[in-house]
Amino acid sequence: PAVADPTGPTIATHCPYCALQCAMTLAGPQAEVSGRDFPTNKGGLCQKGWTSATVLRAPDRLTTPLIRGRDHELHPASWDRALALIAERITATKATYGPDAVAVFGGGGLTNEKAYTLGKFARTAIGTANIDYNGRFCMASAAAAANRALGVDRGLPFPLADLAGAQAILLLGSNLAETMPPAVQHLAGVRGQGGLIVVDPRRSATARLTADGAGIHLQPAPGTDLVVLQALLHVVFAERLADESYLAQRTSGVEQVRRSVSTWWPERAEQVCGINAETLRTVARRLAAASPAHGGRGAMILSGRGVEQSTQGTDTVTAAINLALALGLPGRAASGYGAITGQGNGQGGREHGQKADQLPGYRRIDDPAARAQVAGVWGVDPETLPGVGLPAVELLRRLGTPEGPKVLLVHGSNLLVSAPNAGRLRDRLAALDLLVVSDFVPSETALLADVVLPVTQWAEEEGTMTSLEGRVIRRRRAIDPPPGVRSELDILAELARRLESEVDLETGPAAVFDELARASAGGPADYSGLSHARLDLEPDLFWPCPATGPAGSQHPGTARLFTDTFPTADGRARMIAVDHRGPSDDVRPDAPIYLVTGRVLQHYQSGAQTRRVPELAKACPGPYVEMHQALADRIGVVEGELVVLTSSRGEVTAAARLTSNIRTDTVFMPFHWSGAGSANLVTTDATDPISGMPEFKVCAVSICASRPS
Ligand code: SF4
Repeated sequence: PAVADPTGPTIATHCPYCALQCAMTLAGPQAEVSGRDFPTNKGGLCQKGWTSATVLRAPDRLTTPLIRGRDHELHPASWDRALALIAERITATKATYGPDAVAVFGGGGLTNEKAYTLGKFARTAIGTANIDYNGRFCMASAAAAANRALGVDRGLPFPLADLAGAQAILLLGSNLAETMPPAVQHLAGVRGQGGLIVVDPRRSATARLTADGAGIHLQPAPGTDLVVLQALLHVVFAERLADESYLAQRTSGVEQVRRSVSTWWPERAEQVCGINAETLRTVARRLAAASPAHGGRGAMILSGRGVEQSTQGTDTVTAAINLALALGLPGRAASGYGAITGQGNGQGGREHGQKADQLPGYRRIDDPAARAQVAGVWGVDPETLPGVGLPAVELLRRLGTPEGPKVLLVHGSNLLVSAPNAGRLRDRLAALDLLVVSDFVPSETALLADVVLPVTQWAEEEGTMTSLEGRVIRRRRAIDPPPGVRSELDILAELARRLESEVDLETGPAAVFDELARASAGGPADYSGLSHARLDLEPDLFWPCPATGPAGSQHPGTARLFTDTFPTADGRARMIAVDHRGPSDDVRPDAPIYLVTGRVLQHYQSGAQTRRVPELAKACPGPYVEMHQALADRIGVVEGELVVLTSSRGEVTAAARLTSNIRTDTVFMPFHWSGAGSANLVTTDATDPISGMPEFKVCAVSICASRPS
């Protein structure tokens, strides 16, 4: 690609991948990457960040629309023909089946501007309720739990740098040492005090940070994290370690919670989760000793996908929040509960209206006041706005069925690799009347589409992202896109025009942001005091940032939430009693092994980008099954040998990687690949009833060597 200004300065921007949003500069025609000092990454980048510009030059970059012909092959087509075809088919589908027969699927990698426009497009130009996004696979349960308990969901309600001041951190199901390595530097202080406690069935790179007296690693059976948390809270109450004054002044519901954990004494929990009862007591005491109520420097409880991707994910995170509240942590110095968001804009992606139940400003779509306000900004009658649509997995389950969507527009998602029960999904996508995929490379999902639209990438456009801390940051254009590709903002505006929508869609990112900010005013995620111009000057702005601050001054943003009150009706956090139900797909004689899926250092999400980077592909070329040596011995498998995992959904084949860092009843598989080694061929699409989160972290499988019979 050509440079926007070959003689111009280096461009300050952020990494295109995970929610740490490491700061970097891009220089010259090849957009050469350097780390840039910033509070989150302090100049550091991981391998993915260092090599991120390679995808801009991917040899198979999509540069022209493609339409599937009668020969079933994809053929180049003009933009006019592709957009005309899409508009015609959407119009016909709406006329026959109604607007909900057209569904829109977004992504947590889209900029705030694109996420906002996608939601507005779906609800005005199409009029469908059925818009959701892939954040449902990664953040939904933590978001639901935080919303119901704390009144708002901002992944970390404090800056990441606050971790450095904590005396103890309970890290639940997060392998950040591998998924976002620059974040590890914020753990130096807590490790130095022996206060890092990691809960993970694998002795992951993060769990290994607890070695040499730096902390404690708990390896519970998959699907039993809720039991671990109930037992910790039991100890806190039983040993009078709770901050009763905080509970009385700042929370409601504690008595029900006290009763709900009363029977989870550590010895009973040990029977279920496998963690030694005395270790559970030690952990509870260590967290309490670190809490400000006991004179400690601070304690944090942080959750990741390991505990959230579960059919009891919302309740598990609720238990974590109950524990944090009992210890009086939220709103206190170097303390609190937070979720470590994974996708680059997983946070912003759920704030601006591409989620089935939400409008911009992170407000519920069934809230009449929110509907009226957003409808006013959009210039439509609130009565015309659709209601709550289908959550992602349910939407995918119904594709192509008589009562389900017939047309699907996908933006920023490679569903065939990242969605659960991927074999069934392939059939459902194939059954659609029309599948349209917008992407910049021919992902597995794009290759199945009827129409493929080539779009711009991160360094080719302006926009904003919201990091895991709720910090709103500027993503900047460093190079021109290749001729022939368009931004989703342009595509959606043009489609809206062809659909004869009465609502115009802005195409300039700064103008879209200004509108997004107006639409968010008064909501939990209030961006109304922000603009591209202000963010260019101030990189330290966190939402909520209303239009005006105290005495009419410019609002400074809100780095730390909950210091005085919670944004609930009575200003108190809600403690909610929960209990362990067990996973939906528990181990049994015909499927006696737990499969846990996840990510590796070199690859991001479905791998559509990182598999195209030679350095990353060389360092981690394909799928593998990590298993304990003892399990390998039991089934007669050696290092590197192909093994087959079978579940009631299907089977997957990959090379065995032997280790002592995992439970003997559990295997781990990264999910970044397609084909026979695609981990999601066997995962379950059972979901958490509250959040719609699928259960990627507990899948019952049988395992055997792959040998000719
Ligand atoms: Fe930073 Fe994440 Fe990018 Fe790695 S992938 S450089 S940790 S933002």
